[in-house]
Amino acid sequence: MSEPLRETRSTCPYCGVGCGVVIESQGAQITGVRGDPDHPANFGRLCSKGQNLALTASAEVTRQQRLLQPLRRLERGGPALPVSWDEAMGDAAKRFAGTVLAHGPESVGFYLSGQLLTEDYYVFNKLVKGLIGSNNVDTNSRLCMSSAVAGYKATLGADAPPVCYDDLQHAGTVFITGANTAWAHPVLFRRLEDARAANPQMKLIVADPRRTETAAAADLHLQLLPGTDIALCHGLLHVMLWEGLTDAAFISTHTSGFEALRERVREFTPAQTESLTGVPQAALVQAARWFASNGPALSLYCQGLNQSVHGTANNIALINLHLATGQIGKPGAGPFSLTGQPNAMGGREVGGLANLLSAHRDLANTAHRAEVATLWGLADVPAKPGKAAVQMFEAAADGEIKALWIACTNPAQSMPSQATVRAALQRAEFVVLQEAFAHTATAAYADLLLPATTWGEKEGTVTNSERRISRVRAAVAAPGQARNDWAIGLDLGRRLEQRLPRRRLDGGSLFAFDSAESIWNEHRESTRGRDLDITGLTYAKLETPQQWPCPEGQTAGLSRLYEDHHFATPDGRARFGAPAHQGVAEPRDARFPFALTTGRLREQWHGMSRTGTLAKAFGQASEPCVQMTAQDMRRRGLQAGQLVKLRSRQGELHLPVQASVELAPGQAFVAMHWGSEFAGGLGVNGLMSASVCPQSQQPELKHVAVRVEPAPMAFSLVAAAWLPQGQALAARSAMQAALGHLPYASCVLFGREPAPEIGVLVRAAAPQALAQGLLAMLTQALQLDGPQALHYTDPRHHQQRCVRLGGGVGGAQLLRGFLLAGDTRAQAWLLPLLQEQHALPMPGRMLLLPTATAPVRLPARSEQVCNCLDVSAAQIQAALAHAPDDAAKRLASVQAELKCGTQCGSCLPRLRDMAKGVPASV
Ligand code: SF4
Repeated sequence: MSEPLRETRSTCPYCGVGCGVVIESQGAQITGVRGDPDHPANFGRLCSKGQNLALTASAEVTRQQRLLQPLRRLERGGPALPVSWDEAMGDAAKRFAGTVLAHGPESVGFYLSGQLLTEDYYVFNKLVKGLIGSNNVDTNSRLCMSSAVAGYKATLGADAPPVCYDDLQHAGTVFITGANTAWAHPVLFRRLEDARAANPQMKLIVADPRRTETAAAADLHLQLLPGTDIALCHGLLHVMLWEGLTDAAFISTHTSGFEALRERVREFTPAQTESLTGVPQAALVQAARWFASNGPALSLYCQGLNQSVHGTANNIALINLHLATGQIGKPGAGPFSLTGQPNAMGGREVGGLANLLSAHRDLANTAHRAEVATLWGLADVPAKPGKAAVQMFEAAADGEIKALWIACTNPAQSMPSQATVRAALQRAEFVVLQEAFAHTATAAYADLLLPATTWGEKEGTVTNSERRISRVRAAVAAPGQARNDWAIGLDLGRRLEQRLPRRRLDGGSLFAFDSAESIWNEHRESTRGRDLDITGLTYAKLETPQQWPCPEGQTAGLSRLYEDHHFATPDGRARFGAPAHQGVAEPRDARFPFALTTGRLREQWHGMSRTGTLAKAFGQASEPCVQMTAQDMRRRGLQAGQLVKLRSRQGELHLPVQASVELAPGQAFVAMHWGSEFAGGLGVNGLMSASVCPQSQQPELKHVAVRVEPAPMAFSLVAAAWLPQGQALAARSAMQAALGHLPYASCVLFGREPAPEIGVLVRAAAPQALAQGLLAMLTQALQLDGPQALHYTDPRHHQQRCVRLGGGVGGAQLLRGFLLAGDTRAQAWLLPLLQEQHALPMPGRMLLLPTATAPVRLPARSEQVCNCLDVSAAQIQAALAHAPDDAAKRLASVQAELKCGTQCGSCLPRLRDMAKGVPASV
């Protein structure tokens, strides 16, 4: 008898929108995901990443990509061998305790993740600060939200976004700055589109160095130069003051520090601001007028402000605009930092950063430390700030930190200055990685690998961008021997309690928890009387997701803060800041003449350890590349697809170059997802500098100066094949690992799940020919060594070509795989022939011809636009050819015909552009 179908309500594990999902499962298998119609973040909507979640939990992905048992390496670079949980945890406790006892509590570091649940965070934070007695616990939220935290605290007095998603419906002007919301927070962007449709008077202003899809959708795009956010905000305020658009009564009654700011912005005339930011004066004036006088003004912002060497000042400069115009504490108005990760907010709530304590308490505050010590039953908690992310890895590279515990994150992809991070992972005497996925770049450095549960298998809570706490629920049992992250933390904590001297005053255990709920209950108690007080909530009440604060006695959380205009500062007044204009950490110069910025792709998420297991997720951006303007490419004699070397002061990366209409001259762009696992080298973050904002310690991951030069290589390779789904992911990982030493090695997927087969595409280049053994390995991995393969080999000239043929529907012959080593020109037609699976219009042996053009005419290939329904640009253009003239009607007509953009809606901005005749990015 088949097992019954189940439905489990949970939360999407990707971005900070925090959409509710309904997981469908049968037995141990997740079979589907749909949006939760009752969840107040998304009301049933999901973007394409959320819609594809079930595919990332397929049996094939689990078997090939998950870490399913504890593994231990007896030597670095050696094989990771199975070990029991008891042995693994005993070893971990012994090594960590031994290091603490020999070298002090600060000789160990814990690096966590904004993707952990609040309960996971709570346990590890207590373990490090309470038991070990150090504050060396930080998270990848440091790379994402710490400038927003510092900005809120500096101005409003507390780390609390004062607004909510419903404010989109009330806003008259929405100012998006440093965020590509259409791609990074798609469901929120859908809500913004709805609000604009309902209120045609609404104005959307977008400030971004690139003309992203978000910027293209705006009424006004302020295409500022990278790193000039402070000058832009000061220029806007200058115009507001000049035109009498500020709110003098609000400023005098509810704020402090305005005079210094007024003095600061005096010099930021429109002309001066244009010269600093590149934003035309007329656009600046228009933006200032709309912001100050077109109804409530709501700002949405994200990494473009935060990931800067002056990220805190960027945040302060933006919040200044809201305070100066009284655009805060009322419906539709306020500064709204969009959280990058699903639970960066929850991590901060439990104090999971090196400078924080539980419930938004500050480490530097004596009374706060005493409160936490009392709560935990300890004599004290340590006062010395711990090392923030960048410092932690620098300290490990210097030998100061000797043991690292990394949970649910991939610093060998996501941290800047990858050379230092990898030196740290090499030098640390003991590295533990607690992970769900087996093949992250960091996994290669771990002495001990501990299998963790992930989305669909975990119980706990997360907090989204609007302070809303949602339950995360397990739909299926943990696969293999995977354990919940909090359970691993409890096990470690209890074992360390046997070995370390710090004790609860009553002699009990710090880790007397028996469930996620019992951990959350202690966290809840820690918030009593604090700004995020949730003592009015229970796990049961969280059946309906709730916003904080929600103190005891209240039935629902507060949707909007500061409506009484009393701020969380000692005097109740919000504080203006007056930061000076600062540029980027590494300005362009003659040696590094391009401003390289980074950003997100629509279908990928962060380091791709989950989305990178799906061929479908490569539909929109199929391979890693660097984008430049066509003019800059022409000036440098670069052709589309040509391999170039990007060189920064920190490192280099080889990528193919593509033209983009989104960029300004002198700029380049690489998506932030491309790490060594998919793009080779040290990934894009190998280029990035370790410069951090002095207040928030957040690194400048958004910008670095580079030079771009042709990278001719004596040898190149292109190979691709359709492989059974149960083998393709393992083959991809194995090939990427085998090619990892080359200057350029990209290994990606293509195709569309669910399907029996998915494609793997490998590109590599090197100064000399690859060893025959390596070529043989690739040939075998791509199953090009069977009887249906045709081969051509010229060893003297390092030429090798082979193709695998197979039978299709009706006996048609199909190309099923190929490898070109040496002369790779034929990939221009072999790859589309393989990917489109057209019946071969020529004898199979002609596929071995080393020509750049096909010997016979082949159908053209087209970019995919709608990922949900696999609709290509060519199909859309064909439909547009006979659509009406009006852009809105053209869109409706195409949608009626092809259904594109009718599912998750993530491609709607692109469809609108196509209906208006805007050219594609590449
Ligand atoms: Fe997940 Fe997309 Fe919603 Fe973000 S917008 S939470 S990625 S479904």
